[in-house]
Amino acid sequence: MTNNTTFETLNPPQRMLMGPGPINAYPRVHQALSSSLIGQYDPVMTGYMNQVQQLYRGVFQTQNQQTMLVDGTARSGIEAVLVSILQPGDKVLIPVIGRFGHLLCEIAQRVGAKVKTIDIEWGEVCPPEAIEKAIKEFQPKLLATVQGDTSTTMNQPLKQMGEICQRYDVLFYCDATASVAGNHLKTDEWHLDAVSVGLQKCLGGPSGSAPITLSDRCAEVINRRKHIEAGIRADHHVAGDEAMIQSNYFDLAMVMGYWGPERLNHHTEATSMLYAARECARLFLEEGADQVVARHKIAGDAMASGLRAMGLELFGNPQFKMNNVVGVYIPQGIDGEKIRLELLHRFGIEIGTSFGPLHGKIWRIGTMGFNARQECVLTTLAALESILIKHKAKIIAGQAVVAAMGHYSQ
Ligand SMILES: *Cc1c(COP(=O)(O)O)cnc(C)c1O
Repeated sequence: MTNNTTFETLNPPQRMLMGPGPINAYPRVHQALSSSLIGQYDPVMTGYMNQVQQLYRGVFQTQNQQTMLVDGTARSGIEAVLVSILQPGDKVLIPVIGRFGHLLCEIAQRVGAKVKTIDIEWGEVCPPEAIEKAIKEFQPKLLATVQGDTSTTMNQPLKQMGEICQRYDVLFYCDATASVAGNHLKTDEWHLDAVSVGLQKCLGGPSGSAPITLSDRCAEVINRRKHIEAGIRADHHVAGDEAMIQSNYFDLAMVMGYWGPERLNHHTEATSMLYAARECARLFLEEGADQVVARHKIAGDAMASGLRAMGLELFGNPQFKMNNVVGVYIPQGIDGEKIRLELLHRFGIEIGTSFGPLHGKIWRIGTMGFNARQECVLTTLAALESILIKHKAKIIAGQAVVAAMGHYSQ
């Protein structure tokens, strides 16, 4: 189908993206994206790949040699880790605190793994005692969890889970897409064996690249399934003695071979996305992990205070709230979608809707990456308040912006 704009120059509207992701990318990331393309084995490109590995060791706070990008959105990183670790019949324990916990189950089931879940009410997190009990009973190969589940805005504490996994010799994987850079993530200190993320939340880039890191013991487990494609296989290559990984594209044994010294051909690294990922990591490390997290905490607290000052009720257990996103109940008698659309059309501001049991009940408002800034928080609160007043919602007027300003010195 065509219409009269089909052949026009691309001209997307300027939006302020204040939902649970994607968000507006940092300007420097846009610049990086438009840099010249080079060949995948150009020494400059392989040099950039090595730099990206080093930069993401900083982001993940790890010494892991196996730190690299999976080409695709965050979900590709999740799928690559699960399909590369799990063989049919392997046992995996998954605490489900929201939508993305269900996604981990769904991927593990497709692999043919035996999945046991710990089902947590939305708005809460999984206590470590429940993990320990389930590990004792079920004896899984892998514990797979989500850190920040944006569907519920809860941040699952990982430190004790990591200690438990060490004690029972269980591999520990976490999807930290929504939480990285907005909340602390300490891969080595917390004994995580595999972590995957995406760029489009607090790292401040576009979706389309999934940085991952694997511990040595995790890389060993995966490399036992190594199978190098005919056509690039040489005499010195020895196949692993365990079952071949069922996906070719997401075969992390081959992806490690491509990022390693042999540069074994697999896919063609997504050059522009690698540039973007590199810039996201540079921005994070320049500002410093603690400062980036603190900036997200201030912005998140300011947003939450503003919403409360409006008389709105926040969703979930505040003790475990992610710094970078807040769930807020849609006021009685108000059509949440109408408000969202008016915010978009009149102010150019996007806030998030919700999934599953929370659909139609809460909005989700994010303050992430480039948008974890005072002006974004204040503008969003002022805009939301005026649209709600227009719709005669029963809110407290005139307090929200001032309450949020109280979190900033000027
Ligand atoms: C946003 C989000 C993702 C995003 O996955 P995409 O494939 O990039 O859409 C994954 N996991 C979590 C926990 C998220 O919040």
